[in-house]
Amino acid sequence: MSPAEVEATDWESHLTYLFGLSDGTVIDGAQGGNALRHLNHSCSPNCEAVEAWALDGTLRLDIITLCDVRAGEELCLDYALTIDTTHAPEAYPCACSSVECRGTMAASA
Ligand SMILES: [Zn+2]
Repeated sequence: MSPAEVEATDWESHLTYLFGLSDGTVIDGAQGGNALRHLNHSCSPNCEAVEAWALDGTLRLDIITLCDVRAGEELCLDYALTIDTTHAPEAYPCACSSVECRGTMAASA
């Protein structure tokens, strides 16, 4: 997509931004989320999502880098999608082009 096409696309109606936490809480980045909701998947990510307890006792999500990142370099996470047994990992194809690409955004078995 060209930058103009990206800008013109209504992403809010095309994408989901759900992130499940270990306590069962689901963060929906479409509801007041910040720019981190646009992090793409990679099988060789340069960022990792880490849970941390906030001072108010709620579980929060921090995004940390796993290596040095240059200005302008894309940040990405391994989505490691949790899928139920009715779906094959291939239903969530990955096109990250990493030499370590496992071909799916689903979590490793
Ligand atoms: Zn991949």
